[in-house]
Amino acid sequence: MKHFKMGLGLVAGCAIGLPFSSVAWAANDSIVSGRHFRVICDFEDQNVAEEAIETAEAIWQIVENSWGMERDVTQKPLTIYLYQTLEAYEAADAKRTGGRFRENLSFSLHQDKSAHLLVQPVCAKKTLNLVGLPGLTRVLIAHEAAHLATYSMVSNHASHPEWLTEGFATFVATEALLEKGWMQAVEDDPYSSTMMARAIRRVTDNRLPPLQDLISGGSKGLHLQDRYAIYWQFFRFMRQPVRKPELDAILKLAQSVKAGAEFKAKFARRVVDQLGGADAVQRLDGEFRQFVLRSRPKWEERYRSTNCLRDRWIQIAFPTKTAMLMATQRIDSRAFRIEGSLEMIENLARNSESHVFFGQGHRGSVTVIFSQEGEVRINRIITAENRTETIGVAKLDGIRKGSQTSFKVEVSDREIEVFLDGKLRVKAGLKDHDGTVNWGLGTAAGSVTIWHGVKMTEKGDTKARE
Ligand SMILES: [Zn+2]
Repeated sequence: MKHFKMGLGLVAGCAIGLPFSSVAWAANDSIVSGRHFRVICDFEDQNVAEEAIETAEAIWQIVENSWGMERDVTQKPLTIYLYQTLEAYEAADAKRTGGRFRENLSFSLHQDKSAHLLVQPVCAKKTLNLVGLPGLTRVLIAHEAAHLATYSMVSNHASHPEWLTEGFATFVATEALLEKGWMQAVEDDPYSSTMMARAIRRVTDNRLPPLQDLISGGSKGLHLQDRYAIYWQFFRFMRQPVRKPELDAILKLAQSVKAGAEFKAKFARRVVDQLGGADAVQRLDGEFRQFVLRSRPKWEERYRSTNCLRDRWIQIAFPTKTAMLMATQRIDSRAFRIEGSLEMIENLARNSESHVFFGQGHRGSVTVIFSQEGEVRINRIITAENRTETIGVAKLDGIRKGSQTSFKVEVSDREIEVFLDGKLRVKAGLKDHDGTVNWGLGTAAGSVTIWHGVKMTEKGDTKARE
């Protein structure tokens, strides 16, 4: 992640001497310019700045093709500002929008075609140096860059409805990441996989809004994350080869309707016409639901953020929240094993912690906690009684920071055994263990774990599930 090949003819520059009069830059900011974008970091990390510009540039062609642009419409570079601290982001938001996007942690402005993002999760400077651009920030940069590119190509963009602007940006971001290999498959990546899982839950709970509502802007009542998940899946649905001509026509329509107060109603009517009228849109509902249900998400992020690339997964927790990644596939056997290696990276927390957990929310769960100080603890959470008990603990010399430690959690219907570097370190009895459970990986607030080659194997079943 730290090193990448520069293949875009990027021009790396330093702030000193550059004519950015409106920017309160400091001598140690990292600034990089690409063909269409420039990235200004309010901190010094040339590697992160270069990863950011490569990410932004990766969306350009996809956006151009989608809007049917035949020529390069670049005027002056579109600027993406990255802030390293919450305070700096909030100050920038207060100055530019009066604090409208304080909660969002990222926003793009129509007026000067600039995007502003907090590097998420907030990390120590030395952690960023080590792990590079966090995967979550990469997705957000691609998303905001898609907005900025649209602002520069489509003159009536400010009138577009949310399902179009956000569905488009979310779709373009995942496409760009897939194309560049920063995401292996939408089912494997916790960010997109979680959107799939959210959309599926909407369908199975019978709470998916009809497409007619979505098109006419009636889905605003939904939770923001669910809304984006549905918009994204709708774009993926419409981008299937059989539907793509209709989507292309809709994107053309969006550019042809006159900007202004009438836009949304007029555009919605024309989209329905394009899709063959109200009855046809109703029929499309069923197809869309089937499309959503056919997706096979591997993960659901309970708390962000984890980036899964091949068998190296980087889990960076936010400063005040434990990151939790849960596998969507349940364990059906009463005996199973979760194994791999873990590497703790120094970050904001004084004592880093990495967690392996399994269980069921309503019945309770078991968490194995590996701490940097060398403790291995097995905690059992009893949901009904709202309490946690420690059922096993062992003190070690400390888990080596910055190098891999292999672990193995063996679970049978009676007990749990935890191995580190091949040696049994702690075991405990497990009564009332239910054989059907979920499992996942966690990292405590302010900590970073790099997981290597983690897999779960059901015993008596030779098929490993990664
Ligand atoms: Zn957006």
